[in-house]
Amino acid sequence: MGLVTRAPQGVELRGVEKRYGEVVAVRALDLEVRPGELVVLVGPSGCGKSTLLRLIAGLIAPTAGEVWIGGRRVDDVEPGARDVSMVFQSYALYPHMTVAGNLGFGLRVRGTPRDEIERRVAEAAAALGLSDLLSRRPGQLSGGQRQRVALGRAMVRDPGVFLFDEPLSNLDAELRLRTRDEIAALHRRLGTTMIFVTHDQVEALSLGERVAVMDRGRLQQVGTPDEVYRRPRNLFVAGFVGSPPINCIPLARDEGGRLVGGPFALHAPAGLDRATLGVRPEDLSLAGGGDGGDPTGAGDFRAAVLRVEALGSEQRVHLDGPGDAAWVARAGPSLRVAPGDRVRISIAWERSHLFGPDGRREEMAPRPMNRPASP
Ligand code: ADP
Repeated sequence: MGLVTRAPQGVELRGVEKRYGEVVAVRALDLEVRPGELVVLVGPSGCGKSTLLRLIAGLIAPTAGEVWIGGRRVDDVEPGARDVSMVFQSYALYPHMTVAGNLGFGLRVRGTPRDEIERRVAEAAAALGLSDLLSRRPGQLSGGQRQRVALGRAMVRDPGVFLFDEPLSNLDAELRLRTRDEIAALHRRLGTTMIFVTHDQVEALSLGERVAVMDRGRLQQVGTPDEVYRRPRNLFVAGFVGSPPINCIPLARDEGGRLVGGPFALHAPAGLDRATLGVRPEDLSLAGGGDGGDPTGAGDFRAAVLRVEALGSEQRVHLDGPGDAAWVARAGPSLRVAPGDRVRISIAWERSHLFGPDGRREEMAPRPMNRPASP
């Protein structure tokens, strides 16, 4: 197929820092992206992810640290010579040029021979389903088609690394999903290294082979979507990833040496005087009978139902509790609960988490006092 002729390049950041006066946009950051890998940088607005991408592209220079691409230190290498192509959120196409003209523009500027330009443009257009649109102008395209032209413009340059800066945020919901799938498919087909920035954690988990979660200029965790979701390194990652978000309640050590909060009394790991219990909405199971109709007494706590969101394939049950917290449970479509019901709720403790006062997750799962140690 010949579209990608160059081997994919790895990217490595070593102790990279970027300051703007007092503002530290990126601090002491180490990250290794393997050749051919698709890594998504994700975090809330202002966490430094665009800055990081610009540092890799060479659009800005780090205050400290080193950027390596393809085994070569590139701190002093111009953006155009770094073997990277960037796709921006605002994918300004030239309105007076056709699709073919826009796709080939970067190559023309570089003095690439005409037949080579034509070949690469045709290949990129075919890969992106734009072959029938080559003679149109951007004003005659849908938003999704324009986004694909922007992608194609990066593709024809045959880069060792693709950088995407929130390329989907201007698209409507459906197109967003489709373009996301197209990028994933493109990655599978081309095998090019891709670094993708988004603030949307759902997009990050669905697209990334690995996800790098950032907050306030720091890398919080790098891992597969599954690792980041199931074994979040800290409370920030646990809260940022997952929708609805993880349920939390603060706990404190009592005189009996237990961690207590709301209805819970847990074994306290050594040295932990305060902690936060975190339970994912899907790790709560609900049953009716919270008002004495419960012959076994099973369940970890009881709460009143505040509101039920019926989403078709699942229900989100908003609870008045435990304690002063307001938790959300995810339940199947057949559970019958209504606002005002009291329900008993069991927690999947082995999948739940304890976070220490510094936010770091404890290795051991939380364990209620009235239970034997899990096998
Ligand atoms: P994100 O992409 O995660 O939204 P950015 O990387 O754009 O975040 O910004 C990170 C931080 O650096 C923010 O606090 C932002 O205000 C600051 N920042 C970014 N660019 C500049 C700049 N050119 N001058 C001053 N501060 C900047």
